[in-house]
Amino acid sequence: MSVAISVAISVSVDSRPPLRFFNTLGRRLETFEPLEAGQVRMYTCGPTVYAAPHIGNLRTFLFEDLLRRTLRWFGYRVEQAMNLTDVEDKIIAAAQRQGVDIATYTDPHIAAFFCDLGELAIEPAEHYPRATDHVADMIAMIEALVGRDCAYQADGSVYFRIGSFAEYGRLSGVDLTQARRGERVADDEYGKDDARDFVLWKAAKPGEPSWSSPFGPGRPGWHIECSAMSKALLGETFDIHCGGVDNIFPHHENELAQSECANGTPFVRYWLHAEHLLVDGEKMSKSLGNQYTRSDLVARGIAPRALRYLLLSVHYRHQLNFTFDSAATASAALERLDQMRYRLDNARTLDTTTADDLVEAGRRFEQHFATALADDLNVSGALGALFSFSHEVNRRVDQGVTVAERAAVVATLESADRVLGVLDAGAWRQREAPGGGPGVGDDEVEALVAERTAARGRRDFAEADRIRDRLAELGITLEDGPTGTRWRRS
Ligand code: AMP
Ligand code: ZN
Repeated sequence: MSVAISVAISVSVDSRPPLRFFNTLGRRLETFEPLEAGQVRMYTCGPTVYAAPHIGNLRTFLFEDLLRRTLRWFGYRVEQAMNLTDVEDKIIAAAQRQGVDIATYTDPHIAAFFCDLGELAIEPAEHYPRATDHVADMIAMIEALVGRDCAYQADGSVYFRIGSFAEYGRLSGVDLTQARRGERVADDEYGKDDARDFVLWKAAKPGEPSWSSPFGPGRPGWHIECSAMSKALLGETFDIHCGGVDNIFPHHENELAQSECANGTPFVRYWLHAEHLLVDGEKMSKSLGNQYTRSDLVARGIAPRALRYLLLSVHYRHQLNFTFDSAATASAALERLDQMRYRLDNARTLDTTTADDLVEAGRRFEQHFATALADDLNVSGALGALFSFSHEVNRRVDQGVTVAERAAVVATLESADRVLGVLDAGAWRQREAPGGGPGVGDDEVEALVAERTAARGRRDFAEADRIRDRLAELGITLEDGPTGTRWRRS
């Protein structure tokens, strides 16, 4: 056993190729070199906690998880901050409509976000700063910008002076010089000197939450949040900044301008952006009724593990088209891997120490896997290598495997799963167990039962009944009792 594991690990960190990422800043592939050897600091724009995340948001968070896990697999220590935007126009309006304060309104959405991270096996970041906990940092940064004449006050608000930053547009390629000076573009920003300028501090309006500041009572604009929180947690210059492509302009362009003007130092070295998720080829929107959350999909029988696999399986710089067929394909792919693992675990043990085909196959796989990931997170290549390896294992198991081979394959799969987070060594065994049927594993049942309990908790009985019917189709019987719901396979 120890021999085999040392084989699997010895091909790892030392022989891994250098990582290359596509940097939005400059729009080219670059070899990754962190500021501090062995240590990566990265900031990932987090959710606006106005509603539970939709699967588009989750796609971006999963891309960031793949990046984080890949960096760790390549031997780096990672310090990641992901912010929670818990004050902004839509949140304020919704809280006012419900007659509650913004924390009361955002709390359940923050809980839903963390629940999704757990269900989708997204590794926790080191920091989850909330905008409302960092207003003092934002005010300090705005003061620095005013002090450097990169910002000015007007009617109780403060604006960033785009004309003060000659490099504005460097990240996104957007050319704002075409916007006419003095043009008034937004109702609440009529004090701007220049149409292109954007708000750093919004003057308080009656009934809205506000903080006192040297510029008068008000609240921060969205862009300054990320500049101030990244500086507080990761420093003025850090390695990687991520988000979805919609973040490139104006959000990240504005962050870059603010941070470099306020600090007088370079802001971020590598900017990585994920393309959007579409549903049935269309943009998600409430009016089309295609804006799914994780729990919507679990209620339709898609296990979180299959959703993770599906959302990860397309390269982050390509659009991903979600369909229910593609979710079924993802489940089937995982089943093939589950079954391979089961066959390996149950294969006859060969009484020899000479055969080492699968040790070699594991070594080759790990090299292909590493090469693909190093190439700007080429996840299709990495999964392709995994399926070729799985095929080789399947071909061999009928003849039996040696102790060293079995241990090497297990160690190699566990190593790959530190990046992918989708393998479940016990899943096929559960199906094979007496009473276990194909089509549903215990984790899937537990997830559906939890969704039903949540639906009952919010008195959505139609949804609860739909989930009960779905479970019945899968051969699961529920018994509701005083201590909760128990289930059994019928
Ligand atoms: P938000 O909660 O709107 O602030 O978005 C959180 C993250 O999800 C940001 O990084 C967005 O760029 C990203 N995002 C928003 N919509 C989509 C989508 N349809 N597909 C992928 N990522 C998205
Ligand atoms: Zn941000």
